[in-house]
Amino acid sequence: LYEQLQQANQELETANQELLAMNTLLSQAAITDSLTGLRNHRAFQESLLSLVQIAERYQQPLSLIMLDIDHFKQFNDRFGHPAGDELLRQVATVLRQSARASDVVARYGGEEFAILLPNTDLNEAVQVAERLRQQIAAIQNPHAHITASFGIATHRKRSAPATLLYEADSALYEAKRRGRNRICIYGADAYDAAS
Ligand code: GH3
Ligand code: MG
Ligand code: MG
Repeated sequence: LYEQLQQANQELETANQELLAMNTLLSQAAITDSLTGLRNHRAFQESLLSLVQIAERYQQPLSLIMLDIDHFKQFNDRFGHPAGDELLRQVATVLRQSARASDVVARYGGEEFAILLPNTDLNEAVQVAERLRQQIAAIQNPHAHITASFGIATHRKRSAPATLLYEADSALYEAKRRGRNRICIYGADAYDAAS
């Protein structure tokens, strides 16, 4: 009987280890974009909330860069969806390699990416974005040369996480409007008030 119990115990222990490993894989999958390996939309939203809280509590700067590949629909239409997917992975690699360990790099939507930069003020964020812009424009893609447009915003005291997102997104929209392959900063003087 004792041996049987020991055997059962051993089996339970093994099953438990497998469950734990499975759990780790599942929670990793829940926050990861499967195409690029970056954080997914939901994980980004969660990081946005917590990083804004941290920035408030420790009175640290926090910046957000949103970027979107230029004329990606055309690229897909001409070279096919698999080629588009490959390009998304190339862009993701640039972002991942360029980011600091504390940055949150996410695929926000189809061909739109977001980078949260803790402890980073607007000036530093602009430098990061400019470096990324150049690195993306230098991607060696077998089909075509591509570029991306960037919007940057920085957190202001007591402003909501959604505000930071809105501001970076409208700066990105402005960058598109001005001709793409460029960076716009939310609220910068050069912003066209009429738009
Ligand atoms: P803009 O310069 O204004 O950003 O134009 P755009 O063509 O990049 O933007 P638009 O939003 O018109 O098109 C985005 C395209 O992205 C449309 C869609 O087919 C493609 N797309 C979205 N998700 C994926 C994906 O996971 N894989 C591939 N291959 N394409 C995708
Ligand atoms: Mg696009
Ligand atoms: Mg887009």
